[in-house]
Amino acid sequence: MRICLLGSGSSGNSALVAAGETRVLLDCGISGRETVRRLREIGEDPSRIDGIVLTHEHGDHARSLGVLAKMLDVPVYASTATLGACRLGERLKEIRRGEEIVAGSDFAIGDLVFHPFSISHDAADPLAFTFESRGCRMGMAVDLGRFDEVTAARFRGCDALVIEANHEIAMLRAHPKYSWNLKMRIWSDRGHVSNDQMAAFLERDFDDRAQHIMLAHLSRNTNLPELARQAAIVALQKRSPLLSADAERRVKVARYDAPSDWIRL
Ligand SMILES: [Zn+2]
Ligand SMILES: [Zn+2]
Repeated sequence: MRICLLGSGSSGNSALVAAGETRVLLDCGISGRETVRRLREIGEDPSRIDGIVLTHEHGDHARSLGVLAKMLDVPVYASTATLGACRLGERLKEIRRGEEIVAGSDFAIGDLVFHPFSISHDAADPLAFTFESRGCRMGMAVDLGRFDEVTAARFRGCDALVIEANHEIAMLRAHPKYSWNLKMRIWSDRGHVSNDQMAAFLERDFDDRAQHIMLAHLSRNTNLPELARQAAIVALQKRSPLLSADAERRVKVARYDAPSDWIRL
């Protein structure tokens, strides 16, 4: 199993998850043309995608749903509330639906089994996922206000994690162009996870199993890749002082404007 984030952050999110002959796009918040271009850049044939899975309806995750579902001619796996909130209008009729996603109910696409679970975020039915194939398991949660018990429990036993590290609190507080309301939205339990919250999760609730940790959905305005990376590394080192040299190797940071490194299990 392998995963590559084609792009991550408020300008657009999409990830390719592959196992065996199966290839799934997780979210489609990057334009159709650019998604296809980035798929080719990472050596993937867009015509071999088997489906699109949606986490929630926000534009940075679902912007090109109508275009990509048609262009790639693939089914869309989403909860009914999320698909309704995408406001596709007439284009909804053109979308071929895969299985309806219900939080807590597993579904399969080819060689991949997905387990969706609810997270705290200001969307109609926001979901995060673990996905498995042939005994390997990955977990991915971005766009969540906090790491609650459900997320921490689902992430136990994962071999790789993609987790949000949206902002550095001091940078968010000081940002001159963000309104107070926007700052409060991002800060809230239904907004986005800070570097500190991500690090607290790694230090306290992480089971220390995943050898690959990809930090994702970093804000271009209120975070820096190296700040997020260092926060994660320090947290891992506090958790396992004897393996401190290992922490640097385990942590990667996704990019907003280009594909990430691959995680391969
Ligand atoms: Zn987002
Ligand atoms: Zn969102």
